[in-house]
Amino acid sequence: MEKIASLCKRRGFVFQSSEIYGGLSSCWDYGPLGIELKRNITEAWWRDMITSREDMVGLDSSILMHPRVWEASGHVAGFTDPLVDCKQCKQRFRADQLSGERCPECGGELTESRNFNLMFKTFMGPVEDTASVVYMRPETAQGIFVNFQNVLNSSRQKIPFGIGQIGKSFRNEITPGNFLFRTREFEQMEIEFFVKPGEDERWHAYWKAERFAWYQKYGVNPARLRLREHGSDELAHYAKGCADVEYEFPFGWSELEGIANRGDFDLKQHAQFSGKDLSFFDEEARERFVPYVIEPSAGVGRPLLAFLVDAYDEDVVQDETRVVLRLDPRLAPVKAAVFPLMRKDGQPEKAMAIRDQLKRHFAVAYDQAGAIGRRYRRQDEIGTPFSITVDHETMQNDTVTVRERDSMQQVRMPVDRLVDELRARVTVGRAGVIAPAL
Ligand code: ATP
Repeated sequence: MEKIASLCKRRGFVFQSSEIYGGLSSCWDYGPLGIELKRNITEAWWRDMITSREDMVGLDSSILMHPRVWEASGHVAGFTDPLVDCKQCKQRFRADQLSGERCPECGGELTESRNFNLMFKTFMGPVEDTASVVYMRPETAQGIFVNFQNVLNSSRQKIPFGIGQIGKSFRNEITPGNFLFRTREFEQMEIEFFVKPGEDERWHAYWKAERFAWYQKYGVNPARLRLREHGSDELAHYAKGCADVEYEFPFGWSELEGIANRGDFDLKQHAQFSGKDLSFFDEEARERFVPYVIEPSAGVGRPLLAFLVDAYDEDVVQDETRVVLRLDPRLAPVKAAVFPLMRKDGQPEKAMAIRDQLKRHFAVAYDQAGAIGRRYRRQDEIGTPFSITVDHETMQNDTVTVRERDSMQQVRMPVDRLVDELRARVTVGRAGVIAPAL
């Protein structure tokens, strides 16, 4: 993890928030390469889960919502973690994460556990009275539930269908840490998939398989992925069943995504608290019901960290250690780098012209500094899948060498084939995932 965190800082993937002021604990900023990687992950998710499917639509709801939302959802009363303090070293812990009765750091005595609400509160309007308390949403899901009827009325969707959303969420975590794994501000990629009661278990099984396969599709080593079913003692208050996609991080197996069967809890609660009808009328069967909901809920930071950890590799090339990020080319922040072999004979100008041509399609870098081997290493370290070199021959027949990051093999190729060859390898896209017939 230290190697990853140091690479992230050195090459501009992730910086500590407000670092020049000493940093703000558990908040992180994505640098120039990090934001490209993050966008590639969220775009892959959006494309695979929403735009390539017939039974999904997207949404972008606001972070601040009516305070009654969080009463209806159960968050005001129940979104708490049990907090204990060590009387000796004053450290804080989540009681449910401790194995013994005493402080895991110093062995000191612990206080009784008390429930601590994880929602951040703030005030709407200029007067800080309780009437204007609003919460920073702790999940994006509720924005979807309260818009269920709006989406139903304005789109041509019928049950079964889903609404997906990517956005920020906030939790005042007691013990944040492990770099991007547990932060107080984070992004989520969530789906609420609405189904007919009775069909929920089959759809739950479908989404578990679908989401588990997604990480493998983007190259995560299957040996470090598992799907873990929750025990009945672990289930959240709303859940009929839940399974987590877990990754084996250097700090142990941990959750990337939870896939829950929320039953009809949320829509029923919001119908009751708002007084609005949130049921669905099935025209064909001539029956009305409150849909059940299957929720695949992923973070962005945790998958991003898993992709980085999984891609990180060191091998030996010509007696030198090479750090290489074996990221899936579709996720890699920079798709290709263009180098002139020599800084003369028109090679830099030619290389820059190729860069400009490719830049219209992909994120591309140009580098003319230092020996060619060093330039390859700099790109390997940030996961750039292809390096294109302009040399003497280029100036004669308009061909370049293209070197592939993992195999380090080089092929010669006409310049006018570059866009098509790269596009086939570095862009996200596939035919829609066809939901199996129920
Ligand atoms: P944990 O048990 O680790 O606290 P959770 O079960 O409370 O997580 P969910 O409520 O299921 O998490 O949230 C869905 C997803 O949102 C998680 O799988 C994770 O990827 C992401 N997520 C939740 N909390 C955080 C956080 N504090 N920092 C980063 N990502 C988070």
